[in-house]
Amino acid sequence: MRLRIIVPKESSPSLMEKVNAWNAETVLKDESGHQLSLVCEIEPSILRDCDALSKCSTCNAFIGDVKQYRVHLKSEWHKHNLRRKTRQLPPLTADECLASVNRLFIILSSFKWDY
Ligand SMILES: [Zn+2]
Repeated sequence: MRLRIIVPKESSPSLMEKVNAWNAETVLKDESGHQLSLVCEIEPSILRDCDALSKCSTCNAFIGDVKQYRVHLKSEWHKHNLRRKTRQLPPLTADECLASVNRLFIILSSFKWDY
């Protein structure tokens, strides 16, 4: 299963720790700009077993664990998308809204299940 993970640069060490713990194979790593964009292959079972992932239906993205999810609910990104939702506009992706996101978020925005 291929995951795309985007985090602010200052959070990249903790992301790399996670990726190592998952035994994930890095396909692409892009550190240009203020964020780290990582594409990696992981075992789908990791995600299935992982209660660490909460999905935000407003933002249409997976947001780390419950704690991070709570932080997410207070983030500008989420609030922005809530406002868009009430106007029936589609949510912005984290890429588009990342400037305001300053915590570790694991955004599994463009993942595909290939099993
Ligand atoms: Zn959200």
